[in-house]
Amino acid sequence: MQERRLIPSIESLRQRPIARALEMRFGRRLVVDALRREADAVRLRRRTVGPGTALTATDSERVAAEIESRLEERIASLTTASLRPVINATGVILHTNLGRAPLAPAALSAIAEIGGRYSTLELDLAAAQRGSRHVHTENLLTMLTGAETAAVTNNNAAAVLLVLAALASGRDVLVSRGELVEIGGAFRVPDVLAESGALLREVGTTNRTRIEDYASATTEKTALILRVHQSNFRVVGFTERPALGALVSLAHERGLPLVEDQGSGWITGDGVTLGDEPDVVSSVSAGADVVTFSGDKLLGGPQAGIIVGRQALVGPITRHPLMRALRADKLAYAALGATLLEYAAGRARETVPVRRMLALTRDAIEARAVALSGSIGRNLWLTTEIIAGVSAIGGGSAPGVELPTALVTLSAADLSASEIERRLRGGDPPVLARIADERVLLDLRTVDPAEDAALAALVDALV
Ligand SMILES: *Cc1c(COP(=O)(O)O)cnc(C)c1O
Repeated sequence: MQERRLIPSIESLRQRPIARALEMRFGRRLVVDALRREADAVRLRRRTVGPGTALTATDSERVAAEIESRLEERIASLTTASLRPVINATGVILHTNLGRAPLAPAALSAIAEIGGRYSTLELDLAAAQRGSRHVHTENLLTMLTGAETAAVTNNNAAAVLLVLAALASGRDVLVSRGELVEIGGAFRVPDVLAESGALLREVGTTNRTRIEDYASATTEKTALILRVHQSNFRVVGFTERPALGALVSLAHERGLPLVEDQGSGWITGDGVTLGDEPDVVSSVSAGADVVTFSGDKLLGGPQAGIIVGRQALVGPITRHPLMRALRADKLAYAALGATLLEYAAGRARETVPVRRMLALTRDAIEARAVALSGSIGRNLWLTTEIIAGVSAIGGGSAPGVELPTALVTLSAADLSASEIERRLRGGDPPVLARIADERVLLDLRTVDPAEDAALAALVDALV
């Protein structure tokens, strides 16, 4: 018997009971694809063990049964989305690997409403003619930041690239050596600058840059001064960096724009301070001509890049040919507009998850931690404890700011911390946790209270 007859035809495999049942649920295409993959896997296994001899009809039936038994799992692996919701129990509020900011309910409704229907994305309804998508969040952004006008791109990296391409291509951009930073996800200031066609003029040193360093570097080739938020690190010790106001004065004296990549989207504290995190409102009022920041960091909105600033500069930026490639889509506008409205209405601290998580007190988190630990207390194999710890902001924002929290520790006599962590990650939904000192740590700051019960059940089912 030859190898190709050892594996029954796809058509005959399709007639087997499990395959037929699966075909009712998933359709012919997926079942045939999964059968082919399983048949290929059998062929591969035979090649590695070498062809057998004297194969019989029983062998063929055995192979068919084996393929059939694996079919459901194969279809599951083909159809399970790789983009899935997870429970973030790491305590890192802006976790870039976990999708940064969870959206506010109002933003989700706006996405559903705009996404499922036709909209005025590029329609000027009053004039019944083509309109511009740039108007959609402009009023709220100018109101909230104090800037003259605003524009939105796909993310902040795009915003920086676009601003530099539109305002500085072929000319010099002055940047302090202390601000030539790399931000997670391969955003490097010198690389973005090079891609924009602008020429980098490094100023000062890594730890100290003075206003005179900028002054002596300006020439007739200088297009603008770029200030970059040192978002994910701090230079400590013997350091110096001019105040934004001083840099603005110098730029304006020389007839140059001052552009700031603020990054984090901390628009204003509203009474909450976050270390010395700079805020957009202060940058605009200090005279920065263009300020860029992310939509999905501390602002708590969708992935977007936001550009606010003077009309005379933002106008050419939005008309630049790259704008077409870097623009935001209607879902981002919908979610961003709804998020900004929460700020305008003074409700962001309650309704925007990132702002709510930032404002949670240690006591409030501890009360939930006690309840969680109590509900898994009946599990004899797990030991839990509640200890003091810190949550991190993450996402390259407010480095060094630590938020006091209460952590639930998990340990088991027969399981290592990494095994517990692995089992949690394999849950449905997966749970992401931290490990320290051979213990798994759960921080409820970043867990939606509505998911506390589900989390407790997942932990309880570990062992
Ligand atoms: C996060 C950040 C960026 C990149 O923003 P994305 O929205 O992730 O593209 C650029 N600059 C600074 C200062 C940042 O903090």
